[in-house]
Amino acid sequence: MKKLCAIIRLRCPRCAAGPIFARLLRMNPRCPVCGLEFEREQGYFVGAMYFSYALALAEVLPLIVAMLLLGFGAAPIYIACCLVLVVSAPFLFRYSRVIWIHLDQVIDPR
Ligand SMILES: [Zn+2]
Repeated sequence: MKKLCAIIRLRCPRCAAGPIFARLLRMNPRCPVCGLEFEREQGYFVGAMYFSYALALAEVLPLIVAMLLLGFGAAPIYIACCLVLVVSAPFLFRYSRVIWIHLDQVIDPR
């Protein structure tokens, strides 16, 4: 439960207190509380793209299904999906990285 709260609050996987993000799209290089290095190596966050894809799919799939059931065509569905994804891009960016950091800390704690 502590881990889930830390993910929701975008906190460090080790101490669950230090914020991972300094600003909307800027990460802290290290945890300001415990000093855990968030980006372990160059290209570290490539794995976060899988979570970004899954989160985006979870976001737009219900929208697509609902719009199809309501009889919308492909163009309005495409536009609606683009709008949702553009608006939620910061959310997807932040949470995909935080989930990736937490998963990596479970697999290879440092
Ligand atoms: Zn920490």
